[in-house]
Amino acid sequence: MKELLEINHLSTYFDTEAGTVKAVDDVSLRVKRGETVCIVGESGCGKSITAMSVMGLVEGPAGKVVGGEIGFDGRDLLKLDKNELRTIRGHDIAMIFQEPMSSLNPVLTIGEQLIEPLVEHLKMSKKAARKRAIELITEVGISRAEQIAGSYPHELSGGMLQRIMIAIAVSCSPKLLIADEPTTALDVTIQAQILDLLRKFKEESNMSILLITHDLGVVAEMADYVIVMYSGKIVEEGEVVELFENPKHPYTRGLLKSKPVLGRRQDDLYSIPGQVPNPLDLTPSCYFHDRCESCMAVCQTKEPQLKAVADKQKVACWLYEEAVVHV
Ligand code: SF4
Repeated sequence: MKELLEINHLSTYFDTEAGTVKAVDDVSLRVKRGETVCIVGESGCGKSITAMSVMGLVEGPAGKVVGGEIGFDGRDLLKLDKNELRTIRGHDIAMIFQEPMSSLNPVLTIGEQLIEPLVEHLKMSKKAARKRAIELITEVGISRAEQIAGSYPHELSGGMLQRIMIAIAVSCSPKLLIADEPTTALDVTIQAQILDLLRKFKEESNMSILLITHDLGVVAEMADYVIVMYSGKIVEEGEVVELFENPKHPYTRGLLKSKPVLGRRQDDLYSIPGQVPNPLDLTPSCYFHDRCESCMAVCQTKEPQLKAVADKQKVACWLYEEAVVHV
C-alpha cells in the first residue's frame, strides 16, 4: 500500500426486513498524503457510509462491511481489533460531522472535550492539555478562549461549534481528516470561514482530507481529486479541473448543470429528472438509466464498469465502451 488511504473493493451492506441494501458496493479509492479528495453525490449514494466504514463506525448487526480492504498507512483497518482501531481513530484519523451539536457531549465543557484526546492519545498531563486546549480554541479563530473553554456546547453558535469540532479533530495532528458535510448546516459566510480553516490546517501539517459533500461549490474550492457516487457505486472520478471542465458521465453533467450560477434566474435552474432508484429494487444495469437522456438498451440490462477515459479520469458508462459506441 503506497498511498495514505487505499480502499479496495469495499462493500458495506445493511440487512433490512425488506432485503439487503448495498449502501457501498465495490468501491475503490485512494487518498495521497496532503491531498484533498471529495466524494460527491446525492443523499443515499453511499458517500457517508464509505467514510463511516473507514472509521469503523458502521453499526451492526444490520450494517456490515462485507468485503474489501481499507488500507491506511500500510495497515488494513478491517483486520485491526477494537483497541488498535481506537488508537488510530482520533489520533491518526479524525472525523468531523455536519451537525457539531450532536457530536459534542452536552454535559461536558468545551475545554474538557478538547483535553480528553490530548491526554488519551498524546499522553499529555492535564495541565499541559488544558494549555494546549486554550491555544487550539484561539487557533480556530475564537476569541475569549478561556471563557469558551468553560462553556457548554449549547452556549455556542453553530459556526463556533464547528470550529471547536475542527479544533478537536486536528488536536492530535491526524494524518487524515474525514469531513462529512462539514458546512451544510452553516450559513454561507460561516461556510467560507470553515473551509478556510480546513485549508489552513491542511497546508500547515500536510494533512490529507477526505471531504464528503453534495455541494459542488465546496468541491470546486477544496478538491484536488473528485469521486462521484451514485446508488452505492463510483460512476466517475478524476482531477477536479478535468472533471469540472470535461465531465463524462451524464449524472456528473447533470450535477454540474444544476449548480446555481450568479445571474441565472432560479426558474431556469436545471434539475436531473426522476428519483434515485430504490436500493432494494436494483437489477444488473446502469442504476442511472431511468434518469438518463442518453440511455441505450444495454444500459438497462448490463452494469457498466469504471474504466479510464483519460490519463486521470475514469467513468462507468456504456457511452464510453467502444464495442457499444461503434455498433
Ligand atoms: Fe446513461 Fe447508459 Fe451511461 Fe448509464 S450507462 S449513464 S444509462 S448512457
